[in-house]
Amino acid sequence: MCILVKNVFKKHTISMKWSLSLGKIAGIKIQIHWTFILIILWIIFLNLSRGSTVQETTTAVIFILTIFACVVLHELGHSLMAKRYGVAVKSITLLPIGGVASLEEIPEDPKKELLIAIAGPSVNLIIAGILFLILWAGGRLTIPAGAESFQKLAESSFLYRLLSVNLFLLVFNIIPAFPMDGGRVLRALLSLKMDRVTATSIAASIGQILAIGFAFLGLLSNPFLIVIALFVYLGAQFEAQQVRTGSILADHKVRDVLMHHYTPLNEHETLAKAIDILLDGQEREFVVLDDEDKAVGILTRDNIIKALNERGKEVSISEVMNRDFFSPSPADSLKDVFQKMQQQRFTVLPVIEEDTLKGIIDMENILEFIQVQEVLQREVPHLKRII
Ligand SMILES: [Zn+2]
Repeated sequence: MCILVKNVFKKHTISMKWSLSLGKIAGIKIQIHWTFILIILWIIFLNLSRGSTVQETTTAVIFILTIFACVVLHELGHSLMAKRYGVAVKSITLLPIGGVASLEEIPEDPKKELLIAIAGPSVNLIIAGILFLILWAGGRLTIPAGAESFQKLAESSFLYRLLSVNLFLLVFNIIPAFPMDGGRVLRALLSLKMDRVTATSIAASIGQILAIGFAFLGLLSNPFLIVIALFVYLGAQFEAQQVRTGSILADHKVRDVLMHHYTPLNEHETLAKAIDILLDGQEREFVVLDDEDKAVGILTRDNIIKALNERGKEVSISEVMNRDFFSPSPADSLKDVFQKMQQQRFTVLPVIEEDTLKGIIDMENILEFIQVQEVLQREVPHLKRII
């Protein structure tokens, strides 16, 4: 199976610490997650416990690797189409359950999403077509039939089985279980008829219902289906929330969440000062200023704890603060700034207008703002009825 996700979702769900980089294709990192090794060990174990020879076991492992090469091609199909539309593709990751292509953004234009989504399964269709032609030209194309067809299929040639797997990948991925490919096609088609938030909400609900179905099937048959179900369920939930959030934030500017009450730190102060403020109130994230009151860094709670651990509390803030940040202006779109903060994992930023620090924005505060706006939007029809 394959899931196209936003990079932010991947960062939250898959630990990349133990992934092996295979290099780059068209500027896209191809990675194998360590759990992938499990599937290879599983195949070896299954074969050996069945009494297969070393040669048969090797063929089985090569077959699995070939399937995953097809999965990479499938993901490249999505990725190259995404790049055509200017969407940055961070990486393609192979997991035991399939491939994950992580895109910086999912285009809001339904036609672009539709084409990116169908580009993956189209690759499997093309591979299946090529294999069909090769087998047909060699006169080796016998369709197994009858009660023993499954057994015959298992015993049939490498290429024939690869053809079947590609057809399976094609069919499985076009099941409309958002955010799988078919689900994205469904969301894109719905978006042509209705607003994106409603379309996503419908597609995500269908995706989650199908995910529950996968999980039940998985309990009865293949445990991998349970993991797929979990990915689909969480992916649908995450993206529906993201789209709702995006639509709320699109109507607002940075100035709407600007915080004026905060304690700035001076870069020459020591970490002890930051710890005092941290322990004395609710402030967790700080903007650091120089002697001319210009924002020169940010210091998060995690930075503080890490620095305290490594350098002690007498270290100067300028030595441990994060100097690599951006400064939005009050008139910037809140949606764009929020997305950038999520992608780059910023929890606090200084807001600057004409070289003057106007205040700060804080991730926790933006999330509260989103919650309030969600309630207000729900309340509107209710209030209208009362009025
Ligand atoms: Zn796909």
